[in-house]
Amino acid sequence: MPLDERALFNDKPETRPGRYQCPKCHRTNDYSIRWVRRSKKDRLPAGADEVDRAKFAKLRDYLLRLDDQVACKTCGKKFEIPSQHSLVFVDQLEGLPNEEELEREINVASGEAEPEPERKPALPARFTRKSTGWK
Ligand SMILES: [Zn+2]
Repeated sequence: MPLDERALFNDKPETRPGRYQCPKCHRTNDYSIRWVRRSKKDRLPAGADEVDRAKFAKLRDYLLRLDDQVACKTCGKKFEIPSQHSLVFVDQLEGLPNEEELEREINVASGEAEPEPERKPALPARFTRKSTGWK
């Protein structure tokens, strides 16, 4: 039986800031967007076979965006978050100052089938600390 992704990751909710422009009133506001951080587990669950092992070795931590839309802080109209990316790999996130950089980085990365060989072995503290503001 193939392993479900949920058996391979630990999920942790997290909020991240996003700055978006409302398509109706054209005001730009900052929003708190809900994501879930999926961190690869330390080890495979019991009963994993070779296929699972190979799959597990390729896994990377990632963030999944839960919110698809926000309500404009100025006019109250709901609009879709103007970003195609609802899945971001954590190692693509590091050192990027803002969402624009992030988008560009992802666009470049999405053209590659293989993950880049240079990997950081551990997450910096700012990614492992407990997130606040989550209810
Ligand atoms: Zn608006």
